[in-house]
Amino acid sequence: MSLPSLAELEKVGGAPVLARLDLNVPVRDGEVLDDTRLVAALPTLRWLTERAEVVAACSHLGKAKGAPDPAYSLAPVAAALESALGRPVRFVPDCLDPANDAGPGSLLLLENLRFHPGEKANDPEFAARLTEPYSHYVNDAFGTAHRAHASVEAAARSYPRGRKAAGFLMEREVAALDRVVEEPEQPFVAVVGGAKVSTKTAPLEALVGRVSSLLIGGGMANTFFLAQGLEVGRSLVEEEMVGTARSVLAAAAKRGIEFVLPIDVVIADAIDNPKRVDVVASDAIPADMMVVDIGPEARARYREVLSAARTVFWNGPMGVFEVADFAAGTLAVAKALAASPAFTVVGGGESVMAVRQAGVIGDIDHVSTGGGASLQFITGESMPAIAALES
Ligand code: ADP
Ligand code: MG
Repeated sequence: MSLPSLAELEKVGGAPVLARLDLNVPVRDGEVLDDTRLVAALPTLRWLTERAEVVAACSHLGKAKGAPDPAYSLAPVAAALESALGRPVRFVPDCLDPANDAGPGSLLLLENLRFHPGEKANDPEFAARLTEPYSHYVNDAFGTAHRAHASVEAAARSYPRGRKAAGFLMEREVAALDRVVEEPEQPFVAVVGGAKVSTKTAPLEALVGRVSSLLIGGGMANTFFLAQGLEVGRSLVEEEMVGTARSVLAAAAKRGIEFVLPIDVVIADAIDNPKRVDVVASDAIPADMMVVDIGPEARARYREVLSAARTVFWNGPMGVFEVADFAAGTLAVAKALAASPAFTVVGGGESVMAVRQAGVIGDIDHVSTGGGASLQFITGESMPAIAALES
């Protein structure tokens, strides 16, 4: 089954539409700090408001625990949406409020879905109450597509085909990630970094079966060093993941793929206010130091592999890039992706920040709005929200 598109919606003209968006933006003191996700939702919202009778946009925000919490209110997002769209947005303080008096042409923003416990529980009764006023349903929230929550799973399942669709962002995300998952043009190179092996075990195992080269960086490289019998001093490691790291290494060797760990590393005596910073070969990490970035030789090697790639997927920074002195490896990878002739996809909250910081976001073919969702997508596992739209 294929993902139903907006163009396939039947009789959407003059209809009331529920639009599940990912408006989970960072908010502080009533101000939206980063409007990336909000901007990404605009094309679908514009398309809908030009056609539908009433559009009710809905989303979760933050870690609300199944009850109203002003810290996670979407009210500031309504104001930001209003200025981004240049039209009034009526904020509805409870997502289950049917708002029967909304006049034709209204755009509503419903309060945080997670103020109700039924959202995370994928409760069909909650989904039925949420969807009841709307004849059509659109899901553009790729960032939550890997979760079986009521507004994206049970709600989507309750509409027949012709009455539900993926929005433009969802479509774009799926098309880009499909190009990486289904017969990617070779050489397919994946760069995986970030803090831990444990949060990325399934993607690592899946990628080993598909890539021609896997480049590793970040804190997770330390666990692979341990698996190879090297010492990592006071570096961040996951002792309990050494067995997993060994089996990933064995799978890579068996398939004959190029599995590349940084040949050299930047080390420091501390992350905050370091007094000593140095570059050493990865087999010479002193006991009292910690790895904070990939070294210059590793950067050159990664650049070379990336320049010859035809498809690239990157998730996870190469070092503690939040500290300027430890950002060189991550920025080098960002620039190498931008310069590569390959089809390039970046996913992951911190990786996307790094691409922006490097000033090359416009040179990446696809920057995913969903960190966890893009990682689950590339494992090839079913995505509950996508399966429900296709049902
Ligand atoms: P993403 O959000 O892109 O998926 P992660 O959340 O997995 O990435 O990891 C990002 C974090 O990993 C960053 O905050 C970074 O500081 C941290 N990190 C990277 N390399 C190291 C390292 N060598 N030691 C400790 N932390 C690291
Ligand atoms: Mg992260």
